[in-house]
Amino acid sequence: MLLLDGKLVSQVRREALKPKVAEFMKRTGRKPHLVVVLVGEDPASQVYVRNKIKSCEAVGILSTHKKLPTTATQAELDQVIEELNQDPTVDGILVQLPLPGHLSEIRVNELISADKDVDGFTFQVLGHLWAGSPIVAPCTPKGIMSILEHYQIPVAGKRAVVIGRSNIVGKPMAHLLTMADATVTLCHSKTKNLRDFTSQADIVVVAAGRRHLLGREDFKAGAVIIDVGIHGTGQDQPLVGDVRFHEIEGWASAATPVPGGVGPMTITTLLENTLYLAERKNGLV
Ligand code: NAP
Repeated sequence: MLLLDGKLVSQVRREALKPKVAEFMKRTGRKPHLVVVLVGEDPASQVYVRNKIKSCEAVGILSTHKKLPTTATQAELDQVIEELNQDPTVDGILVQLPLPGHLSEIRVNELISADKDVDGFTFQVLGHLWAGSPIVAPCTPKGIMSILEHYQIPVAGKRAVVIGRSNIVGKPMAHLLTMADATVTLCHSKTKNLRDFTSQADIVVVAAGRRHLLGREDFKAGAVIIDVGIHGTGQDQPLVGDVRFHEIEGWASAATPVPGGVGPMTITTLLENTLYLAERKNGLV
């Protein structure tokens, strides 16, 4: 079985980014600039934001962490986004999710300028993707496409199943696979007899967010299995995914591990999206 090593693909792509970032600096006299907005003190979000900022620094992208208190009002968050939209030194804006309950994610996705939407979550950017003229694509599904591309896994004409229909993973994943000429079935929690679908598929992307949901008997021999799920098993215990990885070793033709599969590619794609939007804003692409 081919191990689809997201850490390795990530490393390769980050190395490839460095000279492009340096070229951007040479041509514009400044670094590409990502601003990450974090509202509140959620510990997991703080770790994600730290990782994003560290990763930016490693490839030469300037990143700013904009902190707002948990008590920030929608009007205050709106104003911060409006200012960042107008700021010519900012190329990318990311509002870390989830937001505290009194704040609207929909409002954020309406407000962030499409030209600076590095996550690819705003309605305008999603509309472009849906219409087949993408600005950028959401980081996790696009990162998965990069893994498939790196390992030269054929997608065109294949039967693909995506499990999960979230706006940030499942739906755009199904769309990107469709655009790459796969024939795609999108499954979700109301799908009856899930195995009838997964066991017929050449490529299965599992993004249900259910620990160890699927095992060997759910897949056909030789399937390509992409596990998006991330689940902690307790302190000092390794992370696990939605797939029982030990069961599919030697059964699948290729699979992503958890950790070290899809996860690292999400941040790498964020860096790629940031550089792309910076280049686009400066008329370099
Ligand atoms: P989400 O918004 O909770 O969506 C989960 C989707 O899975 C929903 O569409 C749900 O169906 C479906 N589902 C749940 N249980 C199911 C079942 N038993 N059978 C079939 N479908 C089922 O989650 P998400 O944000 O897309 O994330 C999914 C997982 O990926 C999570 O574990 C998350 O932590 C992980 N993740 C990882 C990365 C990464 O970088 N590696 C990035 C993002 C997310 P309904 O629509 O019917 O409810």
